[in-house]
Amino acid sequence: MAHRKKQIINKDHKTKSSKGRPRCGLCGKTGKLTKTECCDQWICDDEDQYVLFSYAQNSCYRNHDRYTLCSYHYHEGHPGDWKDCPKCREDFETEMYVWYGTNEYNFEKLENPPDYEPTKCSKCGKIIKLGEDGHTQTGNEYLCEKCGNLELQKVLRQSKA
Ligand SMILES: [Zn+2]
Ligand SMILES: [Zn+2]
Ligand SMILES: [Zn+2]
Ligand SMILES: [Zn+2]
Repeated sequence: MAHRKKQIINKDHKTKSSKGRPRCGLCGKTGKLTKTECCDQWICDDEDQYVLFSYAQNSCYRNHDRYTLCSYHYHEGHPGDWKDCPKCREDFETEMYVWYGTNEYNFEKLENPPDYEPTKCSKCGKIIKLGEDGHTQTGNEYLCEKCGNLELQKVLRQSKA
């Protein structure tokens, strides 16, 4: 009887210790890890592997640092929690605010992101996902990648003439 009890205890202990091994909070890898400055979470220490001028978004550290409100809030020195920070809310238009607060580079996501009207290309009406799609902004207008390029060519031609 007593022997059996001991075994069970050992088993519990084992599962606990494997859980304690730090993993990147974004991709779950257990390799080389560091902690984020902003929120003190384990994250892949992969910034040095980033290839300059490649657009690959494959660095957990860099993605969290560049594309989240968490990091923005920290770097701007705002007080309190980023999730209910009125300054962060003001600094971005709603669509970007929601994207920065809910994308896959976040450890914690905005629980009740505000609604927003989708941004549309002012030329062709295509919906532009500001966080992911290439686009051009001129004043209050947005152009999709395609229309933006056409517009750019027009401007270049005009400036030559
Ligand atoms: Zn990672
Ligand atoms: Zn953070
Ligand atoms: Zn903030
Ligand atoms: Zn367009």
